[in-house]
Amino acid sequence: MRIARFTTGEDPMYGIVSEKDGRDMVYGITGDPLYTEIRPTGTIVPLEDVRLLAPVIPRSKVVCVGKNYAAHAAEMGSELPEQALFFLKPNTAVVGPGDPVVLPSYSEEVSLEAELAVVIKRMAKDITPEQVADHVLGYTCANDLTARDSQRAENQWFRAKAFDTSCPIGPWIETDLDVTAPAGLSISSHVDGEIAQQGTTADMVRSVTELIAEISTVVTLLPGDLVLTGTPAGVRTVPAGATVDITVEGIGTLSNPIVRR
Ligand code: MN
Repeated sequence: MRIARFTTGEDPMYGIVSEKDGRDMVYGITGDPLYTEIRPTGTIVPLEDVRLLAPVIPRSKVVCVGKNYAAHAAEMGSELPEQALFFLKPNTAVVGPGDPVVLPSYSEEVSLEAELAVVIKRMAKDITPEQVADHVLGYTCANDLTARDSQRAENQWFRAKAFDTSCPIGPWIETDLDVTAPAGLSISSHVDGEIAQQGTTADMVRSVTELIAEISTVVTLLPGDLVLTGTPAGVRTVPAGATVDITVEGIGTLSNPIVRR
C-alpha cells in the first residue's frame, strides 16, 4: 500500500495511491494513518491532479546513518567506522516531492545522497532486531543533502546536514516492502536525467533491523520519526537550477529542483 499526503488546494490530507484501469488514483482517507484506522473519505482524485506533500512530518527527528555502504565510504576517502555512525537532521529539514531545495548561503558544494528512509510506526526503545518489523510503518525515498565544504571544515555536521530543505522525502510511504529480509532493492540518483548513483540496498554494511535496534538504545523513536540508512557511491555536487531524482525500487521516484536564493 502506498500512503501519500497531498493537497488539491485545500487542507492537506492523506490518501492511498492505487491503480485503477491503468491510471494512478488517490483515495482520500480520514485522519492520520500513523494514529488512526484507515477509512476512506470518498474523495478520489487522479494522481496527476494532486500536489503530493512530504508523506510524514516527523514529530521529533530524522536519524541518519553515515558510511553504511563501503563504496561510498571509500569515495569519501574514509575507512568504514567500527561502530555505526549516526547523526540527526531536525524535522525542519524535511520537504516533500517537488519542493525546492534551497542551497545554504554558506556552502558552494552541496551534494546529493540517495537513501532508503524508514518510517517508524510505534514508539521504540531498546528493541531487538527481531522486534524492528513491528515498529516500522513503511519506506520512502530520501535525499540526505550535504554541504560537503562545511562537513570537511567542522567535526559537528550541523551546518553540513541540518539546514532547511536538506531532507526531501517521498513520493509516498510504501508499506509492503520487506527490506528487513536481505533482498536488495536498487537505489539510484539522477541529476537532470543523467545518472549519478546506482547501488543496491544489499550492499548496506549494517541492515535496517540492526540499525534501528541500535538507534533505539540511544533514543526513543516516536511514530513518524525517520531513519535514513546511508547512501551508495557516486555522490556529486548539485548546482542551482538542476533537478535531482532519487529512485528506490519498489517505492518510486522523488524529484526536487535545486535553487539558490
Ligand atoms: Mn547520508
